[in-house]
Amino acid sequence: MERQVYNLAICGCGPAGISPLVYLEENKLLEKYLDEGICLIDEKENIGAGKLINYNITANSLGKVFLEIFQKENSSLYKHLMSKESYKNISSKLESAPYLKEVGNLLQDIGSYFIDKIRDRNNGEVYNNHKILEVKRNKKNIFEIKLQSFDNKFKTILARHVIFNIGGKQNELFEKEKTVIYSDDFISGLHDDFVNEFSNSENKTVISIVGSSHSAFSSLYRLKNNFNFLNRNNIKIQVFNRSNIKLFYNSVEEAINDNYQFNMDQDVCYLSNRVNRYSGLRYDSFILAKECMSHKYKNVEIKNKEFTESDFLDSSLVICATGYTNKSVEILDSNHEEIIFQLEQGQLLTDHYCRPYIHNSNNVFEKFYTYGLGSGIKTNPKNGGELNYTGRIDGVWVYQHEVSKRIVEDISYSIQAENKVNI
Ligand SMILES: Cc1cc2nc3c(=O)[nH]c(=O)nc-3n(C[C@H](O)[C@H](O)[C@H](O)COP(=O)(O)OP(=O)(O)OC[C@H]3O[C@@H](n4cnc5c(N)ncnc54)[C@H](O)[C@@H]3O)c2cc1C
Repeated sequence: MERQVYNLAICGCGPAGISPLVYLEENKLLEKYLDEGICLIDEKENIGAGKLINYNITANSLGKVFLEIFQKENSSLYKHLMSKESYKNISSKLESAPYLKEVGNLLQDIGSYFIDKIRDRNNGEVYNNHKILEVKRNKKNIFEIKLQSFDNKFKTILARHVIFNIGGKQNELFEKEKTVIYSDDFISGLHDDFVNEFSNSENKTVISIVGSSHSAFSSLYRLKNNFNFLNRNNIKIQVFNRSNIKLFYNSVEEAINDNYQFNMDQDVCYLSNRVNRYSGLRYDSFILAKECMSHKYKNVEIKNKEFTESDFLDSSLVICATGYTNKSVEILDSNHEEIIFQLEQGQLLTDHYCRPYIHNSNNVFEKFYTYGLGSGIKTNPKNGGELNYTGRIDGVWVYQHEVSKRIVEDISYSIQAENKVNI
């Protein structure tokens, strides 16, 4: 019997991985994809939410942003979600930032919908509880994806196109000896018992947070709300940033009215007129950053400087929030040689269609798409952004709208090209 070749394998079904399915469903394209064969692979039992569901912090987007794609009354996914608590919950927070756990619950309900839908089809399969070990592109340009189940069975599945997003890993801090914890773990509550010990200590404790992003200020927010560490006499908290803290404003006028200092050429998005559109802190992080800048908390010091190891000598705890790089598995060519991709500022460099560039070449790895945490997409004249920002754009809205559109477009080109060859 001939082995099944799926048209599309989604490797890693967190917020990034499942978004193209949402886009396809909401644009009435999913049936066609299901006919051609889809396979989902994730090491978790539940798919859709990825890491977001672990984070005990609020989102950096309003509730309505997570629902924007579900505007079509006759969509069966929309109907399915409307009866769910997770959907009702986010619907009640359209104009405020929901907890990421709540967003995670919504994404998980979306994930279950697709599990059922795909399993209902003869040529679709869901391999949850399966770890991806390796991806190889064979001589026929078919991807061979090697999986391991939780009961240690191995399997290789075949696919013509791969969407690959298995999450990110945090950049490591040079500091090894000090007690360093990573913001990802801290905001997931993994070190709460350990951090609580400082609460009872009589000794002076110095806590350093490294970074100025949403992760850094969300960590500070937890020190305030969960541990009550702000304005405590025996605790000193220092937040290290390489540059000034950036705040997000919906318009130039809003920033001026708030007496915020910014650079008109560098900090304003030329498409939307927003200030620090991609780099600025929003919602809870925005409020906390402003409070710190106005010295509301006597034991918090914001240090705008390039940090060195010696800055942490007196710290009992260092929370590292210096960004993410992408996580991967071995990706091999048909000769079993590992394919190395180009990195830029520690993140994968991809083209307009989210295909990664191969190291030392101008070629992209075709039919392979990656854009989740640690990759993202670059700002360009089409998606706007402030000139000052050279990082990547990611997040659920970007995955569901901009990224999915690009990938679906490229897969269509690729199928058309294959059909021409086969005529
Ligand atoms: C602190 C923080 C706050 C954020 N806040 C927001 C926000 O408010 N709004 C927003 O839109 N975005 C936010 N983001 C950005 C982004 O939406 C999230 O990072 C999101 O979790 C990224 O999704 P992902 O699918 O790339 O990665 P992940 O969430 O890590 O998902 C990866 C998936 O791959 C699976 N996987 C991993 N390894 C394997 C393997 N070997 N085999 C099989 N499966 C595997 C995992 O089980 C998981 O399901 C935030 C990010 C961070 C870090």
